[in-house]
Amino acid sequence: MRTTVGIIGAGPAGLLLARLLHNAGIDSVVLESRDRAYVERRQRAGILEQGTVDVLRAAGAGERMDREGLRHDGVELRFDRRRHRVDFPALTGGRSVMVYAQTEVCKDLIALQLKEGGPLLFEAEALAVEDAESERPRVRFRYAGADGDGSRREGVLECDYVVGCDGYWGVARKAVPASLSRAFERTYPFGWLGILADVPPSHDELVYARHDRGFALLSMRSPSVSRLYLQVPDGTDAGEWDDEEIWAELERRFETADGWRLRRGPITQKSVTPMRSFVHEPMRHGRLFLAGDAAHIVPPTGAKGLNLAVGDVVTFARALVHRRETGSARLLDAYSESCLRRVWQAERFSYDMTTLLHRAPGATPFEDRLQLARLERIASSRSAETDLAEAYTGLPFQ
Ligand SMILES: Cc1cc2nc3c(=O)[nH]c(=O)nc-3n(C[C@H](O)[C@H](O)[C@H](O)COP(=O)(O)OP(=O)(O)OC[C@H]3O[C@@H](n4cnc5c(N)ncnc54)[C@H](O)[C@@H]3O)c2cc1C
Repeated sequence: MRTTVGIIGAGPAGLLLARLLHNAGIDSVVLESRDRAYVERRQRAGILEQGTVDVLRAAGAGERMDREGLRHDGVELRFDRRRHRVDFPALTGGRSVMVYAQTEVCKDLIALQLKEGGPLLFEAEALAVEDAESERPRVRFRYAGADGDGSRREGVLECDYVVGCDGYWGVARKAVPASLSRAFERTYPFGWLGILADVPPSHDELVYARHDRGFALLSMRSPSVSRLYLQVPDGTDAGEWDDEEIWAELERRFETADGWRLRRGPITQKSVTPMRSFVHEPMRHGRLFLAGDAAHIVPPTGAKGLNLAVGDVVTFARALVHRRETGSARLLDAYSESCLRRVWQAERFSYDMTTLLHRAPGATPFEDRLQLARLERIASSRSAETDLAEAYTGLPFQ
């Protein structure tokens, strides 16, 4: 097989990139190791920055998002049994975010790709990227044989460029020699126990709660489905928590002095997400480019992961179009540096939000007071609040 851009991974990064390239008349092939149902059901992100919303619309993938997504003009910070609303449009000159689940973004992009885009191969697992420094990099992959007997075959995809959109556990990053790479990493001694519940959200905007027992987040997937998270110790098994315990703990952490009530409902899904900050530099090696979680991970507190992935693939698609139109590789050469500027701002914001709201094991009373002082500062200073609103609604694309 031969193509201009070989894309590894059909998460939001790979799928959107395929769409952007298709719209620009550049052919691509997407290899995805899992099956379609798995990709469409994997529960993850839910908050789209203004810039991501604009990109999806411009790519022709925003129709259902505009119909079913929920525009949010603010979030609530909750601490010391008090509530403080951050008003995004008022602080950022009109910007907002959209609540529209990553599963739905992927479903929309998959449907478009299968209808009018290039090949999107499910159950096709990339094994290695070869000759990334050459003019003709290749992706070796394994796929299901046509005879349906479960046998696997190997194929080779020859490309002009390879984009590794295969997430943190993928293979693309491994093709960058260790001697030319640098990884920056931080793990956290806690994770998030996330639930989906068939109950209308108890509040019409997201609620970020700091509590002496730990962080809690109230979010939503639709007007009838709530998504809620609890900070839990690292290594927690979701099965250790029964439904009654989860609701009781959420009620404690969201409690306010004004008698706000949490709505309970049947829990349909439970899982634990570890927290990590990670950046791989550089994001390019020869004709191999890394995008999204393959190159960087942020803790979910800032809702930045999917949005960063979008920023990367927009940067790559623009650079490739520029190359085709002008013959200049200037933007492709600047890819890693351009993306990393945005990535590090998102890392900073996600780290700040995480340390602002979570209670580290063994935190001292002094540290507790500092956290409250930081929250108090946001609630009482327009400039501190604007800093949060600007970063939350999104950093500009290059
Ligand atoms: C609980 C949770 C909540 C989150 N909330 C938010 C949020 O609100 N906002 C936000 O912006 N982000 C959020 N994120 C982060 C966001 O989900 C990720 O940053 C995003 O999925 C990154 O997209 P991606 O396409 O780079 O990678 P992925 O979504 O990980 O996709 C990678 C794809 O590559 C495939 N793949 C892997 N290896 C191979 C291989 N060898 N060959 C072929 N295919 C392969 C995988 O199967 C997968 O489909 C959250 C994450 C979690 C876990």
